[in-house]
Amino acid sequence: MKKIKYFVCLVILTSVFNFNTSMKAEAASTIFMKPAEGGYSSFYGPRWGRLHAGVDIAANGIVPIYASTAGTVTKVFDGCANVSNECSSTLGNYVIIRHNFNGKIIDTLYGHMRPGLNVAVGQSVSKGQQLGLMGTTGSSTGQHLHFEVHPGGRASNSAVDPMPFLNGTMDSQLPTLPIDWHKGTLNVGQVGWIKIDQPINLWKRVGDELEYVRVLKENELYRVYGYDNLYGGQYNVGDNHYITKMDTHIEYRNGYMEWRGIEFNRNQVGGLDILKPINLWKKDANGKLTYERILNPGEFYRVYGYSSDNGGQYDVGGGYWVTNMSGYITYSTPSKDFLDRAQKRIY
Ligand SMILES: [Zn+2]
Repeated sequence: MKKIKYFVCLVILTSVFNFNTSMKAEAASTIFMKPAEGGYSSFYGPRWGRLHAGVDIAANGIVPIYASTAGTVTKVFDGCANVSNECSSTLGNYVIIRHNFNGKIIDTLYGHMRPGLNVAVGQSVSKGQQLGLMGTTGSSTGQHLHFEVHPGGRASNSAVDPMPFLNGTMDSQLPTLPIDWHKGTLNVGQVGWIKIDQPINLWKRVGDELEYVRVLKENELYRVYGYDNLYGGQYNVGDNHYITKMDTHIEYRNGYMEWRGIEFNRNQVGGLDILKPINLWKKDANGKLTYERILNPGEFYRVYGYSSDNGGQYDVGGGYWVTNMSGYITYSTPSKDFLDRAQKRIY
């Protein structure tokens, strides 16, 4: 393998995608993950004179079932009381999760689970979040997970072969990543995520040299375990593998912090609740204010700072300001600890 002595911002756009790789980095490299450990005991297709609408993953013992990707739980059936019983439902205990890729809906279904599911309808789940345990409830001949994928949402005959989703071949056909791709559970030592926006090289550090591994593809996700300034600045994606910090090619996020039901931005300091109609002002480079519009009661705005100019005004971002008028607005802020953590994030 060719060794490169120093960082070169080399992006290869030709057909080197098939390079074999020894990468063992903990990489969330497919959008959908295998929802349980175990072997595939049955695939999608005709079986016993009808369509087997999913794949079966079988294993013995206590086997967690995970959300294959981030989404919202839309159905939970937990009515089959025993691990092995005659529960009338074919699927036994099951969960359905709806995934929204900027408007493109995909449902995943997890069947034959043990009683005592971990999730409820309406709950947001991150990729890899535990839903419950593998079981054999319903019409099942042994402990396994029955897993289905339904593009467009579950309806009769809507199931397709899950394998292209699980092995990543479908990833490029999903218009965008889930909006909350950086909202998942952190692994031990993990500090954030990288999303690939344009093809970029994956490097391995061997001694003080960089070894080219392969090109990472658009929309792939990688877990990040650190950052240093070597070779122009690189993110550690595990197992001595690195991605160079090129803002035009990658997007780094180190966590999703939610406050007041929306993401808390890194430089945000708090929020304004509008109690009575009040003016929104735009401030130009010379500090001159121009009336923009009226903010209405019930609205909420992020706050990025405060200035004592003009009698005291809150910076609500984008050059816009709201005057501190008692009774018209309420300013609130999260705990100092929350702010410290939010401001340490790097975007
Ligand atoms: Zn099955």
